[in-house]
Amino acid sequence: MGNVIHAQPAELVAVIRLRRGVVGERRRVSHLVPLPAEGPIPSELTAVCGEVIAPAQAEVLNGVCGMPCEACLARQARRQYGALTA
Ligand SMILES: [Zn+2]
Repeated sequence: MGNVIHAQPAELVAVIRLRRGVVGERRRVSHLVPLPAEGPIPSELTAVCGEVIAPAQAEVLNGVCGMPCEACLARQARRQYGALTA
């Protein structure tokens, strides 16, 4: 797993987009998906925005590219702000 962002200590966040053909192009946005720091990748991943993604239907991106999921970006910013002020 090389394509990860260290958002918080002990939390890995991957940028994941559903593969072409799985959903329509308009829904192929780049979601931010927290990954467990240890252990196998779960059979279902839940993006920061709440979207449930099957890893087999998704591709991992090199950072946020294409069309980012605005809900993911907004929530992730809030999570990081919360972590700084908690
Ligand atoms: Zn999202």
